[in-house]
Amino acid sequence: MNSFKNLLSWVLWPGLFALCMAITAYGFSHGHPVLYFNIAYVFLIAALWRLELWMPHEREWLKPDGQSFASIMHTLSSKGTVQGILLYSTTIGLADYMDGQGGFGFWPLGWPMWAQVVLGVVAAEFGLYWAHRLSHETPLLWKFHAVHHSVTKLWFLNTGRFHFIDSLVSIVLGLAILIALGAPMEVVKWMSAVTAFIGMLTHCNVEMRFGWLNYIFNTPGLHRWHHSKELHEGNRNYGENVMIWDIIFNSFYNAPHRPPVDIGTKDYVPDTFWMQVVWPFLTNKAKMRLRPDFEPLPFGYEEGKKKRFGF
Ligand SMILES: [Zn+2]
Ligand SMILES: [Zn+2]
Repeated sequence: MNSFKNLLSWVLWPGLFALCMAITAYGFSHGHPVLYFNIAYVFLIAALWRLELWMPHEREWLKPDGQSFASIMHTLSSKGTVQGILLYSTTIGLADYMDGQGGFGFWPLGWPMWAQVVLGVVAAEFGLYWAHRLSHETPLLWKFHAVHHSVTKLWFLNTGRFHFIDSLVSIVLGLAILIALGAPMEVVKWMSAVTAFIGMLTHCNVEMRFGWLNYIFNTPGLHRWHHSKELHEGNRNYGENVMIWDIIFNSFYNAPHRPPVDIGTKDYVPDTFWMQVVWPFLTNKAKMRLRPDFEPLPFGYEEGKKKRFGF
């Protein structure tokens, strides 16, 4: 790697994140947060797309995996589900309730907005962390979350690849905390923007370095461990935006060597979008009828390891 790319690898993650946040902040201060968020988001996608080709972390992951259509469809169906929830929450008056002093009245409305956003991200992350951890450590939720982990390469297109039930679980848990604490709508909007930017960066296949940022944010470096097939590496780093709850609940993982290239899940996940949507709802019997060679794996056990992962 030449010295320019080396320098870039250090500044890309913080630089891109800060730029997207600055564009969004400009939108908030000029009364067009959604428009400017979208401009930042499209810019981030375009930048990562080019950077992946120019300075990839794994060349192997540049090869097509036949999952692009399925990933886009999961992104759209998950986003549709989340939009539906937000629309529903508006019709039942949740947004108005949140703009008054809702919840238990704890929210520090007098703090500067940046401090409220930091608090919002950390508080919501508690719900996101447990939604994600339970999705790995309980058999029922894992069935849905396995769709996200079935990809064999990481790149920006995988960011929104979640079964819609999986998205539903995490949004409900993340949002419930902010509602209970009485966070205003502006904090929720900021929180959504932060999650969108960090999520897109997290999955990208760009050679980047992170240093101490790994102890604060969910970086691509940490998330590559999370996509490992080996549960002692994969059932770690559950944080979506920040790593505080992984550090507190002892699931933070960052080994000094390179994360695996051969990622995915040992559980069978079908190849096509519609089958991926239906599969988690089927019983093992039905799965075997559809695929006679289907063999259910015992949940949460790892070959050669005594420790059982999960509750
Ligand atoms: Zn996961
Ligand atoms: Zn992921």
